[in-house]
Amino acid sequence: MSSTDTVPVNGKAPSPRTRVRRIAERAHYDRDTLYAILDAAYLCHIAFADEHGVHCIPTACWREGDHLYIHGSNGSRMLRLAAEGAQVCVTVTHLDGLVLARSAFHHSMNYRSAMIYGAFEVVGADRKAAALDAFLNHIAQGRAHEVRAGNRNELAATTVLRLPLDEAAAKIRTGGPKDDDEDLGHPVWAGVLPLALKPLAPEPDGAQPADGVPGYVMEWAGRAGGADQ
Ligand SMILES: Cc1cc2nc3c(=O)[nH]c(=O)nc-3n(C[C@H](O)[C@H](O)[C@H](O)COP(=O)(O)OP(=O)(O)OC[C@H]3O[C@@H](n4cnc5c(N)ncnc54)[C@H](O)[C@@H]3O)c2cc1C
Repeated sequence: MSSTDTVPVNGKAPSPRTRVRRIAERAHYDRDTLYAILDAAYLCHIAFADEHGVHCIPTACWREGDHLYIHGSNGSRMLRLAAEGAQVCVTVTHLDGLVLARSAFHHSMNYRSAMIYGAFEVVGADRKAAALDAFLNHIAQGRAHEVRAGNRNELAATTVLRLPLDEAAAKIRTGGPKDDDEDLGHPVWAGVLPLALKPLAPEPDGAQPADGVPGYVMEWAGRAGGADQ
């Protein structure tokens, strides 16, 4: 465990399959680190196996408390299998930079990533609408109470699942290249080319309500560079 790891996600040491072996000093098992990686994500990748082999499918996600949530059509093969309790491995990855070293061998990437193992559980009808509100608010805080709520048919057609965050690991790389001492004098540019998922200017659809632009769109525009929305 790294020195920053104070509260393991399940209150115990990492499991045999969550213990990071390769470059273990980049591992984090504490809740705060895991939550921060999940909360910065709009999507995850869900790996599972069926009679046709192994699949890894991207899908939207959000966190509430100690669970990662997903949703989708009742007709989705992935959601059907997950609802039946299939074992899954879920990953979330943020790419923070390309690391250009002086040697080809030491090129790398800066990242924050998380892997969660387990089985999803079905969110019951009594909690489904609230969970989907949380999803909308993850996309745009406050939006759930502005839009037309899901009707009975829409809710019935939607499966919501949640995965306990009690078997998870995070791995983070930061910083510059780790060149060998004998390469430090090699005359080539070395350093990090940073990357970030960046908001762009909002694109209004059709006629807009007269009572102004909501705060979350204004805020998005501000983060996009002060676009006048
Ligand atoms: C953007 C990005 C690019 C990468 N590029 C490369 C590359 O080109 N080559 C390469 O070898 N590796 C790369 N990695 C690292 C890679 O994800 C693995 O950590 C590494 O390959 C070791 O794999 P392993 O099976 O030997 O890990 P082990 O250390 O044996 O894994 C044991 C357990 O540690 C945890 N774990 C391992 N890796 C991660 C992770 N990334 N995030 C969260 N938990 C993890 C899991 O629970 C896993 O089951 C990259 C990672 C990211 C996020």
